[in-house]
Parts: sequence; C-alpha cells; structure tokens
Amino acid sequence: MENRLKLAVFTDLDGTLLDHDTYRWDAAKPALNRLMEHGCAVVFATSKTFSEVHHLQKQMGLTHQPAIVENGSGVIGGTGSEAAETYPELRKILDHLPKPLRQKFKGFGDMSDEEIATLTRLTPESAERAKARGYSEPGLWTGSTDELSAFRTLLAKHGVTAQRGGRFLTLSFGRTKADAMATLASALNTDLTLALGDAPNDIEMLEKADFGIIVHNPSHEPLPPLRGESEGRIIRTTETGPVGWNAAVTGVLNRVFPKKGPIAHG
Ligand SMILES: [Mg+2]
Repeated sequence: MENRLKLAVFTDLDGTLLDHDTYRWDAAKPALNRLMEHGCAVVFATSKTFSEVHHLQKQMGLTHQPAIVENGSGVIGGTGSEAAETYPELRKILDHLPKPLRQKFKGFGDMSDEEIATLTRLTPESAERAKARGYSEPGLWTGSTDELSAFRTLLAKHGVTAQRGGRFLTLSFGRTKADAMATLASALNTDLTLALGDAPNDIEMLEKADFGIIVHNPSHEPLPPLRGESEGRIIRTTETGPVGWNAAVTGVLNRVFPKKGPIAHG
C-alpha cells in the first residue's frame, strides 16, 4: 500500500505558533495533540536556525518532524537526503568582495554572541543558537543605497540574493519558505498542505498551500488580500498567536477528519 500522508502543516513560528510578545505556544497544544494523533506532519517554517528550531522541537516533543529553517534556505529531515550546508560558501563569497563594500556589511559571522544578543534582544544562549547558521547570513548594512546596489550586483554573480527584513539584510542562495514547502510536500507524499503565517515572508507559502491561515498580528500592518482568500481557501484568525492558531487548525482538522459518531437526525 502506498504510504500517503493525509495532511502536512507548515507553520511560521514568531507571531504565528509562538506569541509575538511572550513566545509562548501552550494555547496551541490541543490542536497540536490532535495533529499528532492523526499522524500529520507539523513542519516549522521559519527564519530561525536549525539550532533554534531543534531547541523548540525538544520542548514540544516534535524532534521527529522535518523543518524549514533560515527562511527556506535549509530543509532538515523529511527528504531522505540532507542538503549540504551552504553557509561556509556564502561567507567565502562575502569575503572575496572588494574591501570597501565588504566592510559595509556586518554579518552574524562577524559579530560576537554578545553583540547579537544586544541587537536581537535574545538571551546569550539564544543568541548562540541564532549564530549557528547553516544556510544564510543576516547582518547590518551601513553603506549607502548606491553601495547596496553594487553589493547586490556582485553577490548576484554568485547566485546570492540580499533580502531586507526588519533591521537585517539577509544573504542566501534565494530559496524561499514556499520552495522548501514544495520540496517537502512531495517528499512526504501528502494529500493536503496547510500553511500558517503572519507576515509578508509567509505570503508565497500561504498562497501555494491547499489551505492558508493568516494569524492575526496587531504589531504590524495586516497582510493585503491574498490570492485564494475570496474563495475561502485562505482565512484570517481573529485571535493572535497560538490562540488563533489553535482555533483555526481545529477548524481544518474537523473538516479533514470529521468526527465519527451517532448520525444526527433532525
Ligand atoms: Mg512571523
């Protein structure tokens, strides 16, 4: 018999499964437990590193699940073959750039754990995990806009893109969360994909999944109307973070796995 999976869930973490302010996730436990009972895949799709993701997976009992890390530039587990880490190559390309441009970019690899902790307001232990890069390099850009376009042009010759997100400029080989979701969905042999996110870097993933859930996050502008939203393929939660996550995933579970019980008459 073919080994098919009924449902694979791809979820962003910050502001989606994790509360934007407290990083708590316990309100999502009921839906997470039901996903586990039904043997569904629960794949974190995040800008975090594998070290950060693994730390969280351990707390949640999800270490057996694959993960999409560093915004899609890395896929861990699930595919049967591990992609090589591209971070050393990225650093090498960076260090071969002309010095005047290279000096305008200060990557995590150029910073101490303490500097990263100060910048990101993470604890020193969390900063160490954020610094353990496998596939991409976030950093601060201190040059002009013209210098940035020169920097981008030189990086592009090596297939490297530089994406602005919040205060950081992140260098990678350009794969997105949606690319990684497509890779895993076919490797996992799943019937349905469900994506959850709260921010612009989740849009492509939300639009490409069979179902999408935009988790309300009042700390930033709401996402624009997405493709598939008018047909109800993508919905928005009213509650934020894990509370919204739990309610919306429970709704999807009720449709995908209808409860068997006495037939209602009426
Ligand atoms: Mg988020």
